[in-house]
Amino acid sequence: MAFKQGDVYQCPDPNCGCEATVTKSGTGGPDEPPRCCCGKPMVKK
Ligand SMILES: [Zn+2]
Repeated sequence: MAFKQGDVYQCPDPNCGCEATVTKSGTGGPDEPPRCCCGKPMVKK
């Protein structure tokens, strides 16, 4: 999965609620979602 600038990723855990915004696009890297600080894979909002 390539990150797109402006995409917002959110932690699926309602008790955590972390959000991350992609500030720079990229095409490389591993094919997996970003991981939250709590350890869960984040989902695209
Ligand atoms: Zn989290």
